[in-house]
Amino acid sequence: LIELRDVNKYYGELHVLRDVGLTVGKGEVVVVIGPSGSGKSTLCRAINRLETIQSGTILLDGRPLPAEGKALARLRAEVGMVFQSFNLFAHKTVLQNVSLGQVKVRGRGKAEADRRSRELLERVGVADQADKFPAQLSGGQQQRVAIARALAMDPKALLFDEPTSALDPEMINEVLEVMRQLAREGMTMVVVTHEMGFARSAANRVVFMADGRIVEDRSPQEFFSDPRSERARDFLSKIL
Ligand code: ATP
Ligand code: MG
Repeated sequence: LIELRDVNKYYGELHVLRDVGLTVGKGEVVVVIGPSGSGKSTLCRAINRLETIQSGTILLDGRPLPAEGKALARLRAEVGMVFQSFNLFAHKTVLQNVSLGQVKVRGRGKAEADRRSRELLERVGVADQADKFPAQLSGGQQQRVAIARALAMDPKALLFDEPTSALDPEMINEVLEVMRQLAREGMTMVVVTHEMGFARSAANRVVFMADGRIVEDRSPQEFFSDPRSERARDFLSKIL
């Protein structure tokens, strides 16, 4: 579904993605881990064309990513992204946050969009918060709204960049549980996270990045029981 070939990205002199190759099949859950600055966020943003790349190809369903215009807006709808900082519109209600893109990008009528939004809010367990503003919700609730908003676009895949890093410990699990449910339902997901429990239980593959390279790409069982590279062993010894 998502394929990266020989992708290279520079910020000026800094080489942040080095010959990155990655394939994510339909229904796969790929967890990306690695030290700070290794390029995990840049990788996610490149898949969504929030960053340009200097060389290589990124294919979605076998087709290169569109560079601009309507096709790019469609791509962003098809590959939804959930950020650490929720990124909800502060001056819109929860319901409006979830409905807006459906009307603008998917061309749904408002009534239909609102109906779908309420279904999704129910699914992520915040249906009773629909008429509040984001600031009136807990972090965990806001993040679940952000997931509902991404789902409202009927995405082919979802990218998560440290979705639980900004949350208080007691709220992490309610967000991870929604993500586990999506994984069980067959959603294709790329998840940057430090939650190794999620990686073990929900991932089909673990990708370990260091210095802009993919150093390991293996099943969680193999990766956690027998990391091959020194970098991965060192990383795991610090976080486990
Ligand atoms: P973290 O775990 O801290 O989130 P990361 O693996 O997501 O790290 P990236 O954010 O992808 O790392 O950053 C990779 C490298 O690119 C880092 O060295 C970072 O300083 C650099 N970088 C990221 N964004 C920019 C930018 N807009 N301009 C210049 N350099 C950047
Ligand atoms: Mg990051």
